[in-house]
Amino acid sequence: MILLDGKKTSNDIKDEIAVKVQELKAAGKKTPHLAAVIVGNNGASLTYVNAKVKACERVGFDSTLIKLPETITEEELLSKIEELNKSTEVDGFIVQLPLPAHIDEHKVTLAISPYKDVDGFHPENLGRMVLDLPTFLPATPYGIVQLLDRYDIETSGKNCVVIGRSHIVGSPMSILMSRNNKVGNCTVTLTHSRTKNLKDITKEADIIIVALGKAEFLTADMVKDGVVVVDVGITRVDDPSKKSGFRLLGDVKFDEVAPKCSHITPVPGGVGPMTIASLMMNTLQAIENRN
Ligand code: NAD
Repeated sequence: MILLDGKKTSNDIKDEIAVKVQELKAAGKKTPHLAAVIVGNNGASLTYVNAKVKACERVGFDSTLIKLPETITEEELLSKIEELNKSTEVDGFIVQLPLPAHIDEHKVTLAISPYKDVDGFHPENLGRMVLDLPTFLPATPYGIVQLLDRYDIETSGKNCVVIGRSHIVGSPMSILMSRNNKVGNCTVTLTHSRTKNLKDITKEADIIIVALGKAEFLTADMVKDGVVVVDVGITRVDDPSKKSGFRLLGDVKFDEVAPKCSHITPVPGGVGPMTIASLMMNTLQAIENRN
């Protein structure tokens, strides 16, 4: 069994980006600038956003963290987004999800300029992805594609099962795995909460991408020997033995599934760091597009 090490791979990608940033700076060009907007004080969201800002520092990007109160109105948030759309300083930005219930996430996603949408959630960018045109790929699926690519996982002609059909992970992932690309050319089955006999489907899979947000959902009896498993799930469970008071669990029962796998991602240290690396790649792409 080979561990798909997202931490190491994301560090390799960040090293490559850092070199490109140095080249831009040496040529007197603008330093890439990523802004992140966070609304409220959700602990997990704050952790993710801080990790993104830290990654910017690591690769030499400029970064701005915009913290807005939970009580901000939708109109105020939209006007902040308009400001970022128009900014000549900021090349790309993200609005960390989830947002408070009184704010319409779809409206927010639509308000972000597709040229600065480095999370790749705007319908225009998702549409370009479907058409295989240059775009910002959604950060998590893009990270998974990078990981499979850099570990030279053969995907062509394989049966790939995606569990979960969210707009940010499962659905785009299913499209990317079916495209005619080096990582792609799979026969994809997209499964979800209404899928019947899931185990019969996963047992036929050569590659399983699990993104449903239920800790340790995928068990050993659901997979065949030699499968490639990508675990997207992140669930915080209380753990008084940890300084933070919690630990992270994936959607895969790692200890029993891993021995059956040819390759598997750990949680943490798998897909999470790759998502951040993709965001850095998209931001670099944003400034290259502008230049
Ligand atoms: P979501 O919560 O929006 O959607 C969950 C999906 O799972 C739904 O499409 C639902 O139909 C499906 N589902 C629920 N129960 C099911 C069942 N019994 N069988 C099959 N499908 C079922 O999901 P999301 O936003 O994609 O997040 C999924 C998980 O991935 C969460 O734990 C989230 O924290 C994590 N996540 C991690 C990263 C990362 O960078 N590692 C990024 C995004 C999300």
